[in-house]
Amino acid sequence: MIITIDGPIATGKSSIAKKLARAIGFIYFDTGAMYRSMTWGLLKHNINPDDVEAVKAYLEKFDFDIKIRQGDRYYYVEGENITDAIRGEKVTSAVSKISAMKEVREKLMALQREFSIGVNAVFEGRDMGTVVFPDAEVKIFLTGRPEVRAKRRYDELKAKYPEDFKEMTMEKMLEDLNRRDTEDSTREIAPLRQAPDALVIDTSDLTVEEIIQKIQEFKDTRRTRLKEAT
Ligand code: C5P
Repeated sequence: MIITIDGPIATGKSSIAKKLARAIGFIYFDTGAMYRSMTWGLLKHNINPDDVEAVKAYLEKFDFDIKIRQGDRYYYVEGENITDAIRGEKVTSAVSKISAMKEVREKLMALQREFSIGVNAVFEGRDMGTVVFPDAEVKIFLTGRPEVRAKRRYDELKAKYPEDFKEMTMEKMLEDLNRRDTEDSTREIAPLRQAPDALVIDTSDLTVEEIIQKIQEFKDTRRTRLKEAT
């Protein structure tokens, strides 16, 4: 079974997907980390995203790996552990532009589908329920008020990467979040959009536990409905 969780920035997608997967014994995939890893690689090699031929050549040899240690995920590109680096400001400000490229999306979609073969998994991202797994049994779309989301992301980044984000203010955070959400929702290919059959949850005033409970209830009703339909 595949469960998809999509939504804009800082709606709690990662924490929810991770906890849900653990609770029901599924594997968890953070596809944003894949787009970030790809961005990191292109930046490392100084590849200009406007140079489509150079991007294509890089995609062909994209050397990406996920390692799991004690339940935590570590991301590797060309053998280098980039788990922290992909959360930094450089990658964060470049990732949306690179994610809008058709060639990049095709490459990562193929990888994501490959990862899904023969496993029960929760896939979290922007286009999981609409493009990558349109037949997923359970689709969730998370939303939230921009101010709540910006505060959430601000606190998280300041706590985790104080050096990297020492210049960050709440105003800038909100601006950055709105810019990225707009870029993600208005791009031509696989924009951030709610699948018609997704359960929409506004996470602004709910705890992670409450959200997980809603998802589990939805999953159970979908199961019953799917069984009845066969
Ligand atoms: O989820 P996260 O904020 O780490 O994702 C980083 C960026 O990767 C997003 O802003 C978006 O541009 C891109 N992304 C995407 N499709 C996905 C997941 C992430 O375009 N499925």
